Amino acid sequence: MPKIRIKVDEDLCIGAASCVTIAPETFQLNSENKAEVYDHGQAPGGPTYERWLEVTQEQQENILLAAQSCPTLAIFIFDEAGKQLFPEL
Ligand code: SF4
Repeated sequence: MPKIRIKVDEDLCIGAASCVTIAPETFQLNSENKAEVYDHGQAPGGPTYERWLEVTQEQQENILLAAQSCPTLAIFIFDEAGKQLFPEL
């Protein structure tokens, strides 16, 4: 399964929640109305603004769709080699 790094820039996030609508198992708003990255049950420590996840191809596509839906492009996705998958450079 592909391993990706997902990062939410909390300064860019405006709590619009479209990422939560598209990928609720990965993104949830915290009490400050910022999206945090959930762990799909893979890592202890609870939600955080940045984490590695092992995902299926389908989950990766869904997470990319969620990132594309963000009005402020606050979600960054990297592949295992560190290449930025989104936003495209
Ligand atoms: S879509 Fe973007 S702005 Fe909205 S909650 Fe998600 S990360 Fe934040």
